[in-house]
Amino acid sequence: MVLKVQSALVTGGSSGIGAAVSQAFAAAGAKVAINYHSGREAAEAIASDIRASGGEAFAIKADVSDEGAVEQMIATTVERFGRLDILVANSGLQKDAPFRDLSLEDWRRVIDVNLTGQFLSCRGAVRQFLAQDERPDLSKARGKIICMSSVHEVIPWAGHVNYAASKGGIMLMMKSLAQEVAPDRIRVNSIAPGAIRTPINKDAWETEEALRRLLTLIPYGRIGEPEDVARAAVWLASDESDYVTGTTLFVDGGMTLYPGFADNG
Ligand code: NAP
Repeated sequence: MVLKVQSALVTGGSSGIGAAVSQAFAAAGAKVAINYHSGREAAEAIASDIRASGGEAFAIKADVSDEGAVEQMIATTVERFGRLDILVANSGLQKDAPFRDLSLEDWRRVIDVNLTGQFLSCRGAVRQFLAQDERPDLSKARGKIICMSSVHEVIPWAGHVNYAASKGGIMLMMKSLAQEVAPDRIRVNSIAPGAIRTPINKDAWETEEALRRLLTLIPYGRIGEPEDVARAAVWLASDESDYVTGTTLFVDGGMTLYPGFADNG
């Protein structure tokens, strides 16, 4: 119960990685606000499962690219739980196209949700961490932020330029923010998942042939599961990682180890 009675907000908690993080946080003793955008039923179901197991959780709608909606989401979390100790800025989407066909609309939507959405969520969390009383009995840090990045914060990705740009942006947003708020004892880190079995990348694992091709990129020889990321998030949110800030934890089965060079390049 390393997150016992801490209050957490997970954006994009209605699906995939965010859903697993919400469940793992609750199992570690946290109270969890589960944000959704379109997946109300899924978010409500996760919250209700957590409550049925004796935990505290509720689902909350917000488009993370909407400033007012993010402010309202954080205010509601604080109203319900009394405070905010942990933010997981996880919401994200892809709108893929060859660069020459990439519309301004799809460029903007991906940057708005993936990057600006994390900016708005992080800013709201930092403001709240600084405004509330410190609770050293709950957590050594004054507040913890985990940004959900991707291996594509460092691996270029043709046909996904908007997505890769958003994740590269998250990398330096996270590090710059971590530098700025470390003196306030707020820890800010990222998780960079590799290929994790969720709806966002269904095309990459749905068929045997697609999975076989995907596995050539993963030295560890298996696709990741949302729980692989969730366990890393629990650690990064807990006092176990109290001296860790401004870093990206790659949870990728070795995808960033340049597997193409394993056999002499
Ligand atoms: P997913 O299952 O498709 O989940 C995406 C989540 O983002 C959903 O909960 C969705 O909410 C939410 N979301 C989308 N647009 C939103 C908006 N405007 N406002 C609020 N929430 C919004 O995908 P996932 O794989 O779990 O992805 C989670 C994060 O991990 C993303 O940032 C993604 O880039 C990152 N990631 C994933 C992988 C992977 O292999 N799966 C790898 C690297 C990084 P609704 O469903 O309620 O609309």
